[in-house]
Amino acid sequence: MQFPSKLIEDAVNEISKLPGIGKKTALRLVLYLLKSDKDESLLLAESLINLRTKIQYCKTCKNISDGDICSICSSNKRDRSLICVVEDIRDVLAVENTEQYKGLYHILGGIISPIEGVGPQDLHIESLIARIGEPDSEVKEVILALSPTMEGDTTAFYISKKLKTHQIKISSIARGIPIGGELEYTDEITLGRSITSRISYDAD
Ligand code: ZN
Repeated sequence: MQFPSKLIEDAVNEISKLPGIGKKTALRLVLYLLKSDKDESLLLAESLINLRTKIQYCKTCKNISDGDICSICSSNKRDRSLICVVEDIRDVLAVENTEQYKGLYHILGGIISPIEGVGPQDLHIESLIARIGEPDSEVKEVILALSPTMEGDTTAFYISKKLKTHQIKISSIARGIPIGGELEYTDEITLGRSITSRISYDAD
């Protein structure tokens, strides 16, 4: 694609790196921004800069947070005996939307995937184990809410092995629930039910 301006070319190249956006769509967006009110574009640019420079991750559960500790971890209305382990932040939003779960979370930041070169050390697994092992930990149960895929199973198995020495219950949400990215499309009633009627996790 030929561009009349290097500035337009740069903007198109950057925008087309976003998922699902090709060069043509990127060009359409760039031309829209040029035509629209200047302040609108500046607000967009500012919100992106703020997003990347000001956002923090909760030191405890790795959820998105405005401070050191997120609103869920710091709430006194949450059940501290439960930790729901999920792949990413979209899963937290989906589970929260069910309004069926009042425990805490731990966000792994992905799942073990040898094909994509993601190993346990790339995920927030050690911090989960450390969290449960803390002397003042009130955790009695870990709920594995990972995708029913080979990667999800591998991750669940790895975590369950790591937790074996701890005196806690390990459970998993009902199978067949698409979780991990797709979870946001699962209806809230089904997802809520799969959490309340979770089953004991058996690694063998
Ligand atoms: Zn947190």
